[in-house]
Amino acid sequence: MDEFQIPRIRMVEKLRGHYKIADERVLDVMNRLPRHHFVPEALKSQAYKDNALPIAGGQTISQPFIVARMTELLELTGKERVLEIGAGSGYQSAVLASLARKIFAVERIPNLAKEALEKLRKLGFQNVSVRNADGTNGWEVYAPFEAILVAAGGPSVPEPLLQQLEVGGMLVIPIGDNQKTQTLVRVIRTEKGFESSDFGPCAFVPLIGEHGWK
Ligand code: SAH
Repeated sequence: MDEFQIPRIRMVEKLRGHYKIADERVLDVMNRLPRHHFVPEALKSQAYKDNALPIAGGQTISQPFIVARMTELLELTGKERVLEIGAGSGYQSAVLASLARKIFAVERIPNLAKEALEKLRKLGFQNVSVRNADGTNGWEVYAPFEAILVAAGGPSVPEPLLQQLEVGGMLVIPIGDNQKTQTLVRVIRTEKGFESSDFGPCAFVPLIGEHGWK
């Protein structure tokens, strides 16, 4: 165990009690993962706080609650190949990699992509690939995916991501008509088409790219 054990346990208690995260597998993973490895050195002491924190490139490591919620909504069983857009710090990638078979993560800022991969390897994750590219185009060669998680807010669901989602698969993404606030949306692909449901307001950094904000 490490010096952050107590704040980490408190974080998980709040996820369960206050935020009503019910998937014990998600809570268990977040109780084990060293989130402090994914925040800038100067912010380590704040790593388990109930908010997003700044990382390089003017981006953020998402609030623990939103990481837990998005992961829970994907209902992972351990067998999935997951596409993640907006790897950022790599923390969400580590959560997904602990609950699914293989993670294909895309990040548009080169330095973040490089550092996220280094951190994941250092922690022993071999089942994550991180690519520096515009994730609104998905990652065609590895499609289709059973699950897709987008960690940045776009004006609509990028068309390539819908095409790369397997039938029966689920996609979670923050959608909003401005660059500051969004609604968390889950899209399920069925034999007949796409069904989407809303899961409340949220605030993400913008999804910038060909099929996002310009
Ligand atoms: N889950 C990450 C969230 C990082 S913030 C974490 O908790 O650390 C969202 C990230 O999405 C940023 O790093 C941003 O650079 C990235 N991003 C924005 N638009 C993107 C795009 N079109 N393709 C890939 N990454 C994108």
